[in-house]
Amino acid sequence: MIIFGTKGYLYQLAILTLVCTQCGNPAAHTLRKRVTKFTLFFVPLFPVSTKYATQCTFCGAENKVTAEQAEQLQAQAVGGGQGGQGYGQSHPRQPYQS
Ligand SMILES: [Zn+2]
Repeated sequence: MIIFGTKGYLYQLAILTLVCTQCGNPAAHTLRKRVTKFTLFFVPLFPVSTKYATQCTFCGAENKVTAEQAEQLQAQAVGGGQGGQGYGQSHPRQPYQS
């Protein structure tokens, strides 16, 4: 008798601040990877499907993203975002003179 099936795994890859498409808030989003693996005798052998999604922590809306988008989002999260975001938040301090 051969016992086989599938098992789902959920990985949290990153947390990003994105403007939610559902509620419109610039809220924290979790980037998740859902992997379904084929199992034989309860031993996971190989992934059957890999899906990525972001979830808004504000309203809970889940947004499916492609593997490419997920990679880009992850790169953003790790790199700290070298784009225009955050520019102007640090003003050069004038030396205080009394
Ligand atoms: Zn939302």
